[in-house]
Formats: sequence, structure tokens, C-alpha cells
Amino acid sequence: MFDPQLHARLMKLRKKSPATRRVHIVDSLYLATVGCFSVEQRFFDAFRRVWKKRKRSAKTELLEFWRQRDANRRIIPIINLVATLPPGKADPTEIPYAWCNEGIILEFDATSIKNMPDRLIETLISHELLHAARTASGRETDDRNLEELAVRAANERMGYYEEALTRWKPK
Ligand SMILES: [Zn+2]
Repeated sequence: MFDPQLHARLMKLRKKSPATRRVHIVDSLYLATVGCFSVEQRFFDAFRRVWKKRKRSAKTELLEFWRQRDANRRIIPIINLVATLPPGKADPTEIPYAWCNEGIILEFDATSIKNMPDRLIETLISHELLHAARTASGRETDDRNLEELAVRAANERMGYYEEALTRWKPK
């Protein structure tokens, strides 16, 4: 479970940004951010609402997955608000405002989502957490299109309307 290569990469990333603030979100989850974005408080509130909606078993599975990957280094998961998403990470099947990498990095584009309604921010966070949950439970497939469809369907079952997120455009 513990991946030394991945850890080396994450530690390097962390060193590059010594000004990283760690702000508690919920349970053992922290936001790690270098910037200060106007959407931050709304993001926290949305994240807490989304987290609260999940079944205890789903939360436990995800927290345990992250705990094993983290090996007491307090890095994983990396939940981050960024001014722009890393270039080259755009996946044509994916929602353009956030991405989830290997189930452990969840990054959100603070610039794009600053005018997004709370409900859609929740939809987005829930979507990325579902990607992580599929990695955590070993259900993830290599087919990106299939993954995306599975996550969208699961998010709809949680009461979030993916279509509203797809239609939304940043001002
Ligand atoms: Zn997705």
C-alpha cells in the first residue's frame, strides 16, 4: 500500500511550497493550500455537507485507504484549492473544474468555482470523492469513460445533478 516513489514526489511538492497552510476540514481531513481564495469558506462548508451525507462505512473505507497510503506523514490526502489546475491534466471525459489523482490528490480550481452556486460546489466535491472511493475500494477501471459514467451515476444516486454541473459556465 505504501508507495515510496509517490511519497518522494509528494514530499518534493510540499517542499516547493513552504507557505502551505493546513486548515482542518472535517475528521482527519485538511485543506492544504498556498493561496487564499474567496471561495475557501464556502468550499469548507460544502465539503462538510458532502462528507456528512456519506454512509459511515464509505467514510471509514476512504479514511482507511488514505491512512494506509499516508504512513503517518500527514500528507495524504492532498485536498487543495489552486488558482489553476496543473496543465496537461485536462481529461476530455472529466469535469474541467477539479481532478482526482490516484485517489489521493483532489484539486479544485478556485478561480473557476468562485462564482459557482453552493449546491454545484457540493456536486463537484462529491464527484471527486466518488472517484477516490472507487480507487479505495479497488473498483476503478482503466477505462476513463466508464469511470466517469460510474461516478456520475453514483453521484446522481446521492441526489446530486451532474447535468447542472455540466451546463454551468464560469462567469
Ligand atoms: Zn469525474
